Parts: sequence; C-alpha cells; structure tokens
Amino acid sequence: MDLHKELDRLLPRVEKPAQYIGGERNSVYKEISPDLLRFAFCFPDTYGIGMSYVGLQLLYYLVNRREHLWCERVFAPQRDMCDAMREAGVPLFTVESKTPVREMDVFGFTLQYELGYSNVLLCLDLAGLPLRSKDRGEDDPIVIAGGPCAFNPEPLADFLDLIMVGDGEEQLPDVLELARQRKLQGWSKREYLIRAAQIPGVYVPAFYEPVYDDAGRFTGHSKLEPSAPDRVLRAFVDDLDRVDYPPVTLVPLVDVVYDRPSVEIFRGCTRGCRFCQAGMQYRPVRERSKDKVLSIARSQLADSGAQEISVLSLSTSDYSEFQPMVLDLIDYCKPRQIGISLPSLRMDNFAFSIMGELQGVRKSGLTFAAEAGTQRLRNVINKNITEEDIFTTIDRAIDLGWQAVKLYFMMGLPTETDEDLDGIVDLAARISRFAAEKNAGKRGRFNVAVSVSNFVPKPWTPFQWQPQNDEAEFERKHFYLKDRLRRLKGVTYRYHGSYASRLEAYFSRGDRRMGEVLETAYRKYGCCFDAWTESFRIDAWKQALADCGIGEDYFAVSGLSEDAPLPWEIIDAGLDKSFLQREWHKAQREETTPDCRYGCQGCGINSHIACPMEGSLR
Ligand code: SF4
Repeated sequence: MDLHKELDRLLPRVEKPAQYIGGERNSVYKEISPDLLRFAFCFPDTYGIGMSYVGLQLLYYLVNRREHLWCERVFAPQRDMCDAMREAGVPLFTVESKTPVREMDVFGFTLQYELGYSNVLLCLDLAGLPLRSKDRGEDDPIVIAGGPCAFNPEPLADFLDLIMVGDGEEQLPDVLELARQRKLQGWSKREYLIRAAQIPGVYVPAFYEPVYDDAGRFTGHSKLEPSAPDRVLRAFVDDLDRVDYPPVTLVPLVDVVYDRPSVEIFRGCTRGCRFCQAGMQYRPVRERSKDKVLSIARSQLADSGAQEISVLSLSTSDYSEFQPMVLDLIDYCKPRQIGISLPSLRMDNFAFSIMGELQGVRKSGLTFAAEAGTQRLRNVINKNITEEDIFTTIDRAIDLGWQAVKLYFMMGLPTETDEDLDGIVDLAARISRFAAEKNAGKRGRFNVAVSVSNFVPKPWTPFQWQPQNDEAEFERKHFYLKDRLRRLKGVTYRYHGSYASRLEAYFSRGDRRMGEVLETAYRKYGCCFDAWTESFRIDAWKQALADCGIGEDYFAVSGLSEDAPLPWEIIDAGLDKSFLQREWHKAQREETTPDCRYGCQGCGINSHIACPMEGSLR
C-alpha cells in the first residue's frame, strides 16, 4: 500500500488534517540505512495533547542527537481518523516518514496518566500488532514504555516488552542503542531483553511472575530469569546540567493545548505533600542552573517566535535562583512583548516583587493549590500553608490588579469529614467577601473559582495504603459542596467526575489482573480516549471489571495492610518504606513534616544518589 497516496485520499475527509502531515519546524528526518535504529515514540493521545508535552520535545531531541538513532513521532489519531484508517486498511504510521509503526524497530509509549492506558491498546491495535507481548514475534517492534505511571508498571505488564522507570534522558538512548546492537548482531528478542534488564531502571515484565494466595491476594513476584535484578531501581540523572535540553522546539502545525516553549527548572520537590506522587517519586530535587535555563529560554523563544514561555517544576518559587532568574527572563521578554508563565507558585513563598515586575508583561492567571479546606486537614496532608498565607497573598494580588483567583482542592482525602468540606465553602466565601470589601467602589466583580478533584491513592506516597471514597460518597460530597457554593456570589465551582477517579485508582494501585480488565474494556466494549470526558464510558468499564471478577474489595478502594507486599514493589523508587509509613502515622496524628531543605527527613533517597537538598537551608 502506498501510504502517502492513501493519506492524500483520507486527509481531506478528517478534522485538522495538518496534525498528520509532519514537517514541523525542527522535526528531524534521517536517511534510512541498515545500521539506523528506528524508534516510533508515541504519545497515546491526540497531537494537540502530545505536542504540549515537554518530555516529548526533550526525548525527541536527545534521541535524534545520536547519529544512528532516529526518533519519529506517533499520536493516537482522532476518532474520525481512526475510523477512516480502519475503513481504508491504513495502519498506524509515524508522523515524519509515514512509515507503518509495525515496520519500526522499537515502538515506545509515554505513560502520563492511567486513563490513557486504553489508548496504548488502541495504538497497538491500529498498528496491526498483537496486544500481548507473548503473541508478538521476532520481527515485530520491541514495545517499550516509560513515564510517571511506570512506577507501577503491573497493569500494563502483559502488553509491554520492557518498561523504563525513572529519569529517561540517559536510559532511553541506552535502551535504543542496545536495540540497534540487536539489529546488527542478530540477537533474539529474549537475548536483547536479558541485556536490557541490566540497564538502570529497566523492568522486563516477562522475567517476573506475580504470585497470589488461595484467596486471590497478591503475595509477591517470583523471578523467572536469574540474571534479572530482584527489584528494579529507578534510573537517576544526578545533574540536570549534565544532560542536554532542547535549544529549539518542534513548532506545532495546528492548535495544541500548550503552544509555548517550556523550560524545566528543577525536578523533584522537598515539600513532602503526602498525597503527591510526583513529589515523592522524583526525589531528590535537582536544579538546572540559572544560566542554562536562561540560555535555553532565549534560544527556544528566538527560534520559535513564540509569544509566551513557561518555566516548569513542581513548586516554581522553591527554585534557589528564582528571583534573579525571573528578573533576567523579564529583561529579555518585556521588550519583546513575550509573556511569562510561572505555574506552581506557592502561596507561602510568593515573590511579590516579581509579581510587580510581571505587570509589564502578560500575566498568567492566579492559581493556588490549597488542597484542603481546613488547617487540620492541611496538616494531615502536610500542605504547610496557613490561612494567613492565603489572605496575605490575595490581598497583595488584588493590589496588583488581579480580578480572579483559582483555588484547587482535593476531595476524599484520608480522615476528611464534612467539616473539611465546610472549610472549602467558608474559605471561598471569606475570600470573596474580602475581595469585595477591598474592591468597594471599583467596577467589576472579583471571581473565586473553586476547582475540586478527587483523591486517588497513589503508589510511593504515604497515602498508598489508604482507601478511596466510593462513587456514592464522592457524589454526596460533590452535591454537598455544589449546594453550598452556588449560594455564594462571585464563586464558581468545578468538579471532576468521580468514576474516572475510581478507575484511576484501580489502575494506579492495580496488579496484572488489571491488564485483563483493560483488554476486555478495549476489545469487548471499545473503550478508548478515556481521558476525554465525552468518551469515558462508565458502564462499559464497570462491566469490564465485573467480567474479570474485580470487585470493590480490589486494590482501588479497600485500604491495604502496611505489611502486605504491594504489586509496585517490584520497582524500587529509592524511598524507604519505613519513611512512607512514618509519614502516614504522622498524618494520623495531624503532625506536619518540615520541608527537608531545613533538615533531612530520612526518605532514603540519599542511599542511592547524593541529595543536593539535604539541609541546604538549615
Ligand atoms: S534524603 Fe533527606 S533531604 Fe534528600 S529528599 Fe530525602 S528527606 Fe529530603
């Protein structure tokens, strides 16, 4: 089949055809030769989502810098394109060369969120590949994955040949270079996987088998390949300045969610919020130097002509050179009318002088992640901010001209009661009143947007053992809040659907049995694009869970014993289990843990990598 010709025929019939044609500025094309390793890097969602993902830009650049590796992009086609491709027998193809994915050497997925798992199966299926790794042959591509969800790889274990856990900058090129050696030396897939399992952070699921007791409880893994590690320690990059960062970005051809260059300023977090998976599993904090950040930003902006730049981290204002970095960035951006987006600023550490400076360039919205409505619950989750911090910040923000604030909360947190929900209402009401009094006589109303998501217990956090609210309880709490918040003037309320969060919990803490649920949901009920509200089919997923005998007592909803083996412990995130337990016990006593820059809290990561933060502000 001439794929180019077929696409000429199909593309005029589908929405946003430009997303399938490639040729973006800075996209990479290489001459095909027998010693070139061809890698199809898939973000298993649409182009508009995938092209907004910084990791794609980073890994695309790092892989393509190697002469004998060629990384091409693959996205999940939109539904209309999926239908058109199926009808015409067109297989999933790479954006750059329009090569069928099935002909590539390696097919890799980034796993950013659990609700994207069904799209992994969709993409394998559209590529014409068997879904399960055991059914794929020697000539099929090696199917790999990485990303934040890889820290519990078990729900996808049966579909993937190899899973990469941890920082990918060095690990992914090494995995691909080894695949190139396989091609040159003629190794079997198994011979390749045995070697790959020695690369830091590489988990080969076929080398381990889950064991269950008579009651169906997970009791651990048994190792099937003696040379494989007993547990897979995540990969670390010890110094972000040591690894390259793309000086130029792929410039999208159609509207994407975030159409702006972004520079990651540091990875990890020292705050220790007890619900936060990213803050725990990406320890320790490693910073990119200010000079590097600025030179990357200037280069990306100059090359792309973008009108906005974003700096990325889990807690932007904790960057040690935050103020000078932003002032230098303003010096560059202000005369060029370029906006600066500073997400994840903390209320207790808000740089007002910088906010003042930001008046001169376009400002992004004022958002605060308060997470819980009462101080008691904020202590439980170790969100170390007070109401005083919140009001001081908003007071100054109004002075600087803000007319709206977004407050993020989480619902269903461990130990939560209705009093904590009342706290959300009370806080929104008081902020609204405070702003109205401060703005008295001025035109326009200050808006308080309350956005509430559902708590999902995540692996590698102190809350990993905790139960999740059931659907009925989430709904009750949602109506409880909705009813009270709608009575407040100037306050809007947004809530995320509860069943999607339930399913997220099933997958985030699931074992390999969730793979069967996933395949059933995809094959029997056609589930895909579950991260899109309009595509998420609650009944289909409930049916798939029921078909596979997974009930409410499964990992997602029931509390777990602190002593029981957990499916994700085949991975070693580098954190001591005793630290997570200690943090949970402190949560029960409503005790907080200080930011570990003021003194090490003994998370254990420093037994694997020097921790640059250990007491750095003491
Ligand atoms: S080793 Fe200590 S300082 Fe470093 S991240 Fe862990 S608790 Fe924080």
